[in-house]
Amino acid sequence: MKIIEPSVVVTRWPDMSTIEEAVRVCYRSEGNKRLYNQLIKSGHTSVLEHASISFLVTCSRACSHQLVRHRIGCSYSQESQRYCNYENKGFEFIRYEGINEEYLEGVVWEYLSYSGKVEDKRMILPNCTATRIFVTMNIRALLWFFELRCSSKAQGEIRKLAIDLKGQYERFLDD
Ligand SMILES: Cc1cc2nc3c(=O)[nH]c(=O)nc-3n(C[C@H](O)[C@H](O)[C@H](O)COP(=O)(O)OP(=O)(O)OC[C@H]3O[C@@H](n4cnc5c(N)ncnc54)[C@H](O)[C@@H]3O)c2cc1C
Repeated sequence: MKIIEPSVVVTRWPDMSTIEEAVRVCYRSEGNKRLYNQLIKSGHTSVLEHASISFLVTCSRACSHQLVRHRIGCSYSQESQRYCNYENKGFEFIRYEGINEEYLEGVVWEYLSYSGKVEDKRMILPNCTATRIFVTMNIRALLWFFELRCSSKAQGEIRKLAIDLKGQYERFLDD
């Protein structure tokens, strides 16, 4: 049994030249970083839908449920608890204050003792069970995701992931 931290790894950076191409059609001009910021300020954000970013998130099942509430411009492929048998793959839980190891060891014991199908055994697992979810978001959706989930109103785990991803994305834009 492992207790792990949530993480986000970008696997494909957006092709910003696609946005520039779209901007060129609108204004007959070259796209540049200043223009990108102007687009956001002016609300002309539909051109940002032409580029997208892909990333792999490792987080709790509770957090993944919050993530997939973002519907527009977002695609998801999540590890299946119906088919992935933790008995073979190993148990991973996201570290969460107040959830102690003894409790999680009890969960593992219950899972291993259950004789039903894998899709039924998953009902024993808690919300802090780790999951992997592959996400693609267009840039307009990404900025909206940052808006909602970097906020102090968002829950700690998804907020940490959103702030981490925002930092990576801003460093990419600066390069
Ligand atoms: C702090 C916080 C607390 C939350 N608490 C809860 C909670 O207690 N319970 C709960 O169920 N959810 C909760 N949510 C989830 C929230 O309600 C949204 O489902 C989630 O943040 C995704 O946002 P979104 O719908 O704007 O994103 P998307 O689904 O990506 O939609 C993007 C935008 O498209 C437009 N849009 C999408 N679908 C429609 C539609 N059907 N009709 C009209 N316009 C549409 C809207 O402008 C929307 O903002 C919470 C979210 C946050 C950030």
